[in-house]
Amino acid sequence: MTHSMDLDVVGWGPAHASAHAVLVHYSRWGRILRAVEGFLVVWAIALPMLLVPTLIIPVVANALALSIFLFVVRLRASEVAKVVRGTCPDCGHTQFFDVPTRFRVPLEVECQQCSRGLKLEEAIGEQAPVSVA
Ligand SMILES: [Zn+2]
Repeated sequence: MTHSMDLDVVGWGPAHASAHAVLVHYSRWGRILRAVEGFLVVWAIALPMLLVPTLIIPVVANALALSIFLFVVRLRASEVAKVVRGTCPDCGHTQFFDVPTRFRVPLEVECQQCSRGLKLEEAIGEQAPVSVA
């Protein structure tokens, strides 16, 4: 299920700016399928590399670690941000913010223009559904 969220962007100064996030909410089974998908994608990429005998040990070790990491991260991420777009309150630059897989507010981000730390907070009373998938 996809929905949107309006956010406040708080910078160093007293001024606030706004941001808009498009989020996907995954159910329990959706999270499990997504976690299994991440696990399998890592091994689908790693398996052809196992044909090279000298790469077997490092590929297996790294693929195992990455696939378990992706599985756990995706299993725990019930809200995933597809797009977070907003304006820096300090320099006025409008940008797409880099956010982690697991989206929770408040969230610390960085302005790509002035490199200052910003905080995304939920705007009070503004949340509208976009579509239901
Ligand atoms: Zn900025």
